[in-house]
Amino acid sequence: MALKDVIGQDKAINILLRTIEKGKIPSTYLFSGESGIGKKFTALNLAKALNCISEKRSNNNSLFYDACDECSSCQKIEKGIHPDFLMIESEGNQIKIEEIRSIEEALSLKAYEGQYKIVIIDNAEDMNQSAANAFLKTLEEPPENSLIILVSSMPELLPDTIRSRCCRVNFAPLSSNECLKVIKKVMGNKYNVSKISSKTSKVKNADNKLSEIDMLEIISRLAMGKPGYAVTVNLVEERKWFIDLLEDMLNAEKDGWSSREEMERWFEIFLVLLRDMALLKVKKDGNWMINIDLKDYIEKLSRTMNLKVIIEIYQQMSRLKGYLRYNLNKSLTWNYTGLLLRTRMDFDNA
Ligand SMILES: [Zn+2]
Repeated sequence: MALKDVIGQDKAINILLRTIEKGKIPSTYLFSGESGIGKKFTALNLAKALNCISEKRSNNNSLFYDACDECSSCQKIEKGIHPDFLMIESEGNQIKIEEIRSIEEALSLKAYEGQYKIVIIDNAEDMNQSAANAFLKTLEEPPENSLIILVSSMPELLPDTIRSRCCRVNFAPLSSNECLKVIKKVMGNKYNVSKISSKTSKVKNADNKLSEIDMLEIISRLAMGKPGYAVTVNLVEERKWFIDLLEDMLNAEKDGWSSREEMERWFEIFLVLLRDMALLKVKKDGNWMINIDLKDYIEKLSRTMNLKVIIEIYQQMSRLKGYLRYNLNKSLTWNYTGLLLRTRMDFDNA
């Protein structure tokens, strides 16, 4: 892979290629944007492009500055074994001072094989306070021919002193079509109907339309502009899990979340479902729905509420999701949400 293979981030890629062309590489980049949209992938390919040693790069096209993806340098960076390349990833949601020291150490040496010494710090916002303080010193005196790329989906959590010293490149979520391209490229036919239908949902309709609509098309909609998420999690299975719990909740059964992360994800999917329900009230064809394969099920649910109620519930759920970070009690939240829905939904008219 090379920079030209990054899908849906043309603006960011053009900025990077122009910078390589001019030879004015900053000492620190901050790649910011939601997770799962290609920031780390771009950082890796920028590292390859800057240290590529191929003679095949012809200077009569824009790919001259991109990685060849074949030379020994490109291959070593891809495998993470290039002596001038270091990837730092957080462990247990924390980047500690020891990791920052390893960056200092790596950058203090002269480039061994490549033109640049390059360090990528993924989830840079996970730096704890002492790591951030130590890192600031490295930023203040960047060694020559070195590049640090901070990758972050929550750059606002980084100290101002760090952010202000970085050259920021913003990444945007992808369109549904671009998502589809990425998923096809990465997943190929790994997602297939038989595999996904193996676990039957409590809601019949969750299964019976899958074969009628292209599975990859559904997944690219569910990815909501973040294909990276779709290639690590089976989004169709995840949605089945969500619906099963929703049905349990509507039937006043016991809470079914096992962690705060699950609660957060459940509310995220619920908000998308409510969005589909609201839009279905306004536009009947349903082509723009995220959960297009569940149209019948969502139509049935949306008949239990008028548009005003759907919007009110959306606002309440959105607020509740925001409160989850304050460690809301799991079963209280479950019971509260269930009671609210049962009170506001009118199943007699459905
Ligand atoms: Zn190369």
